[in-house]
Amino acid sequence: MTRTIREQTEALEDRLLAPYATRSSRSRGRKRPLSPCDVRTEFQRDRDRILHSKAFRRLKGKTQVFLAPRGDHYRTRLTHTLEVAQIARTIARALRLNEDLTEAIALGHDVGHTPFGHAGESVLDEFHPDGFRHYEQSVRVLDFLEGEGEGLNLTYETLEGIAAHSKGRGPIFQPAQDGQSYESVVVRVSDIIAYLNHDIEDAVRAEILRESELPAEAVQVLGSTRGERIGRMVRDVIHASLEAGKVCMSPEVLAATDALKDFMYERVYPSPEIVNEIRKARSVLNTLIEYYYHHVEAMPPFFQRIAETESREQAVCDYIAGMTDLYALDRYRELFLPRAWDGS
Ligand code: MG
Repeated sequence: MTRTIREQTEALEDRLLAPYATRSSRSRGRKRPLSPCDVRTEFQRDRDRILHSKAFRRLKGKTQVFLAPRGDHYRTRLTHTLEVAQIARTIARALRLNEDLTEAIALGHDVGHTPFGHAGESVLDEFHPDGFRHYEQSVRVLDFLEGEGEGLNLTYETLEGIAAHSKGRGPIFQPAQDGQSYESVVVRVSDIIAYLNHDIEDAVRAEILRESELPAEAVQVLGSTRGERIGRMVRDVIHASLEAGKVCMSPEVLAATDALKDFMYERVYPSPEIVNEIRKARSVLNTLIEYYYHHVEAMPPFFQRIAETESREQAVCDYIAGMTDLYALDRYRELFLPRAWDGS
């Protein structure tokens, strides 16, 4: 009997992948069973479903660090996500992990991000009685909100890989959660490698930072350009992980990466140029929250249903978290700023 392309790919996975890699033929499946595809494995399908979602396209209008940047070369959540996916795939392939699962987790990991980056996240966190965390929201977007309550019906492995993601400020390698896949750990470390390096570049572009101010010991270990540093970190993850049999960095590179991370959190993210804009973004979002909380009928019908079936707070969080920076600013302008009379 001729095997389908998918069956041939699954057989290749069995031969080529490392013993600790996640095999698509052994996926635990989806909430609603799907008949298998003749061409793509289950994780290739997940990746494609995420890429074709509306939430993924909205990432282009969401802040990475600089709010709604007009400069063409600043990162957005979308370009950040693509950089994470690229770094993660390089590491996954070198470690002979499942590259498709890695890519699916990477492409989906930030779809729950709010407008205005972490400013938005902290405003919603203060508002929702159970708190708000973007990685939990990413799972909610992919599993429920996309398609107005349908979700994308992804595999458990992809959803769990995204759920295991966590706060940027926490330690780079956390004690492995029960059953956490290697692919998911690769995405977590790739996220950090990507954002540290591109945030440095964007901060230099914005003249908040000069390259010469970076901590000298870290630069000595990691290199003095973005390319050198990414290359050093990626190679280090690959070699240290192959040696240890788990995803990790060498102590030297881990310490230098941590030093760079602390530097960014102490020196760059709280700089006045960024903080002043964050203050304004917080006030825009708090005003929108208050408005929609008292005017549920002003939200689209799907969110009105969430207000009835779950809670008003949940509906407002879901609606606002889904907005792009410019969409939030437009709603604010429309609701709260008088319009100039144009006479027509
Ligand atoms: Mg990220």
